Amino acid sequence: MFDEFEHYNIETLAVRAGYEQTGEQENSEAIFPTSSFRYQSAAQAAARFGGQEPGNVYSRFTNPTVRAFENRLAAMEGAASCVATASGMSAILTTFMSLCQAGDHVVSSQSIFGTTKVLFTKYLMKFGLEVTFVSQTDLSEWQAAIRPNTKALFLETPSNPLTEVADLDALSQLAKANQCLLVVDNCFCTPILQRPLEQGADIVIHSATKFLDGQGRAIGGAVLGNAQLVGEEVRGFLRTCGPSMSPFNAWIFLKGLETLPIRMRAHCENALSLASWLSQHPKIEKVFYPGLTSHPQYELAHKQQSAGGGLVSFRVKGGREQAWQVIDHTKMVSITANLGDVKTIITHPATTTHVRVSPEDREKAGITENLLRISVGLESIEDIKRDLARGLDLI
Ligand SMILES: *Cc1c(COP(=O)(O)O)cnc(C)c1O
Repeated sequence: MFDEFEHYNIETLAVRAGYEQTGEQENSEAIFPTSSFRYQSAAQAAARFGGQEPGNVYSRFTNPTVRAFENRLAAMEGAASCVATASGMSAILTTFMSLCQAGDHVVSSQSIFGTTKVLFTKYLMKFGLEVTFVSQTDLSEWQAAIRPNTKALFLETPSNPLTEVADLDALSQLAKANQCLLVVDNCFCTPILQRPLEQGADIVIHSATKFLDGQGRAIGGAVLGNAQLVGEEVRGFLRTCGPSMSPFNAWIFLKGLETLPIRMRAHCENALSLASWLSQHPKIEKVFYPGLTSHPQYELAHKQQSAGGGLVSFRVKGGREQAWQVIDHTKMVSITANLGDVKTIITHPATTTHVRVSPEDREKAGITENLLRISVGLESIEDIKRDLARGLDLI
C-alpha cells in the first residue's frame, strides 16, 4: 500500500498521493457524486456535525473526491492543508475573506491577473480592505508600502504576460520582519517548477483551471498552507460561504495532477525552443521568457524555478495591425485567452485579458499594442513555429 509517510519524489506523489482505495479494490480513483452522507445512528450524526468524529458530513465542505485532489496537491506543494474551491478567483476571494477584515491593508504586486486586480479594487475595497499596488520587482517599493495594519503581501511569479520574476526569498523575509503573510498565486509554475511554501510563503493559491487540469476542461481553484490558516480559517469560510469544488471537477483535476510533472517538462521544453527561435526572428522586437539568458532576471528565475515555464510573450515590429496579423494567419493554434492547455494558445493581451485596464495604465505596464502572449502547448514545436511564421513573415 502507498504509505503517505514514506519519502516519495514529486512524480510519485502526483500519481499516488492523497487517495484511499474503497472496498471495491479499484485501481483508478472513484468519483463520489453525493451531496450528503448517511450515519449509522443519531449519535454518529451528532458527533460528525459537532466535529468530535472526523468524516464526511456534506459535500459543500467534505467530499471524498474533492479531498483526494486536496490531499494530492497538498503533498506536491508541501502543505499541511489544502482547500479546493470552485475557481481560481474564488480561491483568492476565499483567502482574503477568511484572513482579513475591514481596516486591514494588503500590498499587492501591480503585475497580477487582471480579474484579481478588479476583485481587490471593485469588491474587497468596498468592505474596507485597503490595497496598495507596487512594482513586482522593486523591493524598496514593497518595503515602503508596508504599514502597521498590513496583513498580507500578494503576488504571482512570473507575472502575466511580461514574465517579471518576484524574489520569493526576499519577500518572505520582508513579510516575516513585518508580521504579515506572504500569499503567492502559483498558477504559472505549479509545484513542479516552484514551491513557494518552501521559500517562506504562508499561502499558495492555484487556478486549477490552467496547468493542473492541463486540457482546458474545467474551472477550479485551491488554497494551500498550514493547518491553522487553511485547515481552520479558510475551510471555515468555505463551509459557511460555499464556493466549493464539485466532485466531478475534482476528479478531472486529480487525474490531471498525475501527468503534471511530464506535461510541465514538455511545456517548458517547447517554450524555451519557441522563445529562442523568436528572439532570432527579424520581425520580433523583444521576447519575454525567464528561461532565456537575455531575461533581465534570468539568475533569479534560475535560482527559484526549475525551468522557465510554459508562457512566452513577445512584441512584434509594428503595432496592433501587425500583432493581429500574426493571430489571424495561424491555422492551428487556438485564438483564446485561456492558458496551461496542451493546445497552444495565442492571445492579444491589450484587447482581451487587459482590456479593462485604462490605455495609459496599460502602456505604463508594458502591455503594448504589439504584444502577443503564447501559452505553449504540446504539439510539435516545429508545427507551432511554422504556424506563427505565416503571419510574422508578412510583417
Ligand atoms: C486564470 C487565473 C486566475 C483565475 O482563475 P479562474 O480559475 O479562471 O477563476 C487567477 N490567477 C491567475 C494567475 C490566473 O492565470
